[in-house]
Amino acid sequence: MDHSKLLNTADVLARPPFVGKLLIDGAWADACDGSTRERRSPAHDTVVGVYAEAGVVDAERAIAAARQAFDHGPWPRMKGAERARVLRAVAEGILLRKHDLALMETLENGKPLAQSLAEIEGAADLWHYAATLARNLHGDSYNTLGENTLGVVLREAIGVVSIITPWNFPFLIVSQKLPFALAAGCTTVVKPAEVTSGTTVMLGEILLDAGIPSGVVNILVGRGSVVGEVMVTHPDIDMLSFTGSTGVGKQAVAKSAQTLKKVSMELGGKNPQIIFSDCDWDAAVDAAVYGIYFNAGQCCNSGSRILVQAEIAERFTAAVVERSKLVRVGDPLLPGVQVGAITTERQLETILSHINGARSAGATVALGGARVDTRGMYVEPTVMTGVTADMAIAKDEVFGPVLAVLTFTALEDAIALANSTLYGLSASVWSQDFNTCMTAARRIKAGTVWVNTFLEGHAELPFGGYRESGIGRELGRFATEDYTEAKTLHMHLGARTDWYLPKP
Ligand code: NAD
Repeated sequence: MDHSKLLNTADVLARPPFVGKLLIDGAWADACDGSTRERRSPAHDTVVGVYAEAGVVDAERAIAAARQAFDHGPWPRMKGAERARVLRAVAEGILLRKHDLALMETLENGKPLAQSLAEIEGAADLWHYAATLARNLHGDSYNTLGENTLGVVLREAIGVVSIITPWNFPFLIVSQKLPFALAAGCTTVVKPAEVTSGTTVMLGEILLDAGIPSGVVNILVGRGSVVGEVMVTHPDIDMLSFTGSTGVGKQAVAKSAQTLKKVSMELGGKNPQIIFSDCDWDAAVDAAVYGIYFNAGQCCNSGSRILVQAEIAERFTAAVVERSKLVRVGDPLLPGVQVGAITTERQLETILSHINGARSAGATVALGGARVDTRGMYVEPTVMTGVTADMAIAKDEVFGPVLAVLTFTALEDAIALANSTLYGLSASVWSQDFNTCMTAARRIKAGTVWVNTFLEGHAELPFGGYRESGIGRELGRFATEDYTEAKTLHMHLGARTDWYLPKP
């Protein structure tokens, strides 16, 4: 159903909640022990999802199904063209159901409906892109190793992949991983964050409709400390593809090392937008506001630090504060709302405690700084000034609509400040001067540097972090290769000289 028309919140909430089961070996199942979990909308505080909640036994069943499907099933042995056909059918299935998916995302995550819709459409594009890679995965050959030798490097699917995702962009993030793993011929066990499982379960329905063979994609709703733990440690898992916090990610890497799994980690960020005095003023002010309030600041890529050149700092900050006052916060089902609810109560508390900590450390709350007094969990657009590099608010990921403003004098200071946290996910540079932009872009330690823009992405461009923002890259033309092993075929042609008993 097309929800882009005006939605009546009361009507939406009066509908029965979505019911989700576990997808194991091609069939929907209840949890072995009958456990269930409910999800309440963070904006409306009503139950919007009821799920079978997996435990250890369910996780082991799902891993066994994925193992069987990899070792004996058709999927890894199919032609790339056949896998591409299934991926394209999934992309089309997503687009057919985009309005239902978007509504589910909004109800569980709290983000405005138009933004959910854009997320779903962007995700469908990733499935289409992965379909092209499924037909282009090839190895290498060396015909330069001498007359008797031919070298061929094969790319083989790595095996069974655990895919663990967070709650901030549930559908986009599973779509940054799953289609690429499938394109390579892997089989998978997928665990969405327990608070936003709906759209990933709906994706399971779309996958079955598209003809994915049994056991190739298994979906588990469940807690990280229970189901996630099994997915990270089980010896039958060959690779872990994880997106989430740096803290949980580090523990997952350590635990997966017991069985030396390959890992792909997309973790946190404290991303600077560097504003030079010769910037395009309106564009930079707009990007500062968009960069921090998009998805209520619950983005790994959030522009949570503004580094402003001293001579324009006061005027620029004032402009950002004025523009921030215009940002519409509220019920994500209402058209025109730009910032919805904070997704979990725990996150709400985390954000408020970061604001209070910054206040105590001597920063000034130039705007906002509190919970919005209404039904649902909302935080006011917040701008903190007087921030110095040593303060926690300048270094730690807040994951909320809280902007920290710092100042610098020269290019060198800006680069040093940009690189002064343990993260390295993304950054932006705002200047009309080519040399300034390129010098900063080349010296900032981040996986993505935007130049005179912010928070844009394309399937063709790799995404990932330096340092404690992660390991590896997603998207781009090498995305499927990440889910493979390289195998060398070293072939000898003609008679071979015997080493042990040289011929007389
Ligand atoms: P989180 O680390 O708490 O949880 C992420 C996932 O890990 C969830 O599915 C969770 O259930 C699971 N998990 C929790 N404990 C686990 C364990 N012991 N073993 C295995 N799995 C476990 O993160 P979150 O709060 O859901 O998401 C917010 C974080 O994600 C932020 O730090 C954000 O920066 C990061 N993030 C990064 C990117 C990126 O691409 N770099 C994108 C989005 C979000």
